[in-house]
Amino acid sequence: MKIQLLGTGGADGVPALYGDTRVSRFARANGGKDVRSRTAALIDGILKIDFGPDTWHQMTREGLDARDWTALLFTHSDADHFALDEIQYAVFPFNDYEYVGFQVYGNSVICRAIIERFPEWPFEVFMTESFQSFENSGYTITPIEANHTAGEDSHNLIFESDGKTFLYGSDTGIWPDVTWEKLKDFKLDGMVIECTEGFAPTSYYGHLDAKEVLEVVERLNKMGTVSSDTKIWTTHHSHQGEATHDELVEFFGPHNINVGYDGAVIEIA
Ligand SMILES: [Zn+2]
Repeated sequence: MKIQLLGTGGADGVPALYGDTRVSRFARANGGKDVRSRTAALIDGILKIDFGPDTWHQMTREGLDARDWTALLFTHSDADHFALDEIQYAVFPFNDYEYVGFQVYGNSVICRAIIERFPEWPFEVFMTESFQSFENSGYTITPIEANHTAGEDSHNLIFESDGKTFLYGSDTGIWPDVTWEKLKDFKLDGMVIECTEGFAPTSYYGHLDAKEVLEVVERLNKMGTVSSDTKIWTTHHSHQGEATHDELVEFFGPHNINVGYDGAVIEIA
């Protein structure tokens, strides 16, 4: 399994469009791994996770082709993950396609928004629910319940294929008990976990800071869900987290956790 991190920034990206934080200023001055577009990922070139406002830029930057997608999988409906209007470019009159070439998966909020916005559209839209697995292109995909947005079933996603298991958790606070319980069933070869708040924790329940990432990984280690062989990467870093890429590398390096950046590739073989 090959996972490409197309974007690794928080909701307003880094540098933030309207932000003058230290991290935003550093990113503007230095570029490189500190420039973070909105969080998204692609598995084996075909399973697209989330469709945020930077999708065009990310696909073009990486030399990728959206016509290769077999599935578009939404984690939740926040604007940095769900740029609904952009989906219209998948069919006529922007090209000659009569049908959307990929299947769309999302929770009830996502499905309702798509159907209301595009009532006549040639879409295949499937509603996802936490802990209800489904199949696409030979992958078994299991949404698990995140602790992120009130009023909707926000997902993290587990992908299984060819004996390999990968967890994508872009937006999640500390998981609810039911999710911890479910995670006992999995042994992860790879995992991407959010680190939105970096070194500047807030009172918001729906995101993790750097210390909480360590706590989550330690608990997963004790459960046997991750081991020293699990490839662990971070994502969804906010400019408000008071942490540059290099500062995060210094913090996470001793814990065998890789700091994500736009364009990073994770190979699970
Ligand atoms: Zn987000």
